[in-house]
Amino acid sequence: MILAEEQTLVVPARVTVVRVICRACEEEKPEQQADGYFGATVDGTLRLEDRHGWVTCRCGHRIELIRAGLVR
Ligand SMILES: [Zn+2]
Repeated sequence: MILAEEQTLVVPARVTVVRVICRACEEEKPEQQADGYFGATVDGTLRLEDRHGWVTCRCGHRIELIRAGLVR
C-alpha cells in the first residue's frame, strides 16, 4: 500500500543536511521498527540558496523539502 499523500519536511533556515524518517516506509514495513528506524531513515541535502527540494528514500518515496523562513 502506497500512501497517496506527499510527505513534506520544513527545513529550518541555515540547515543544509536533513535526516527524515519516511512515514510511508514506516507504515508499509512496521517490522523494521524492531531494528530501530534505520530502514526508514532518509538523508538529504538542501542548499542554502534553495527554497525547495526533494529527497527520495531507498524505497522510492519522495519527500518534499520546504525551506522555512523564505516562503511568504
Ligand atoms: Zn519510503
